[in-house]
Amino acid sequence: MENKALCAICGEGHVTAQTREVETEYKGTKALLPMHYQLCDTCTSDYAGMAESKLNKRIVMAFRKQVDGLLTGAEITALRKQYQLTQAQAAKLFGGGPVAFSKYENDDVAQSEAMDTLLRLVRRSPAAFWALVEEKGLQTEIAKPQSPLRSMSKVVSITAVRAEVGSPDPSYNPREFRRRSFSHGAVPCLQ
Ligand SMILES: [Zn+2]
Repeated sequence: MENKALCAICGEGHVTAQTREVETEYKGTKALLPMHYQLCDTCTSDYAGMAESKLNKRIVMAFRKQVDGLLTGAEITALRKQYQLTQAQAAKLFGGGPVAFSKYENDDVAQSEAMDTLLRLVRRSPAAFWALVEEKGLQTEIAKPQSPLRSMSKVVSITAVRAEVGSPDPSYNPREFRRRSFSHGAVPCLQ
């Protein structure tokens, strides 16, 4: 198994990724959280490297957010996608700094209660969302999607045009178009 990483402790053995349920308490609420670590097959050391530490921090943060009644990272991602915002646009609109939403969504940091309240309001009310866009002067950057009614009328306005045989515009008659293409020695579409 040469593809396994070398042990950071002894430098000889190889490590495999493991998880272990660890009891955690936050504000009187207890939970068993899956903590990630590496286990060496030679010196039997178990330790969390950079990647595991980051992952474990996020798992603990997600648990704390849950206890505090804050939106989870996944819920914030869903809300952002509900309005088709990039993380940068979300930060401009709601505040928190340029990388705020990456951090919220990855559970790297917890959003403030005020931010959480704003996000919940906007999640519930598209009217509040568009009012905020206006308030922040972001109408050009965050464009309101066309109403379904308008796009429907566009579809309805498309009328089928049937070409007369020998029409001067071959694009109206696919059969005629194909016949002409072949007659000029062109390669057919499906080769
Ligand atoms: Zn080792």
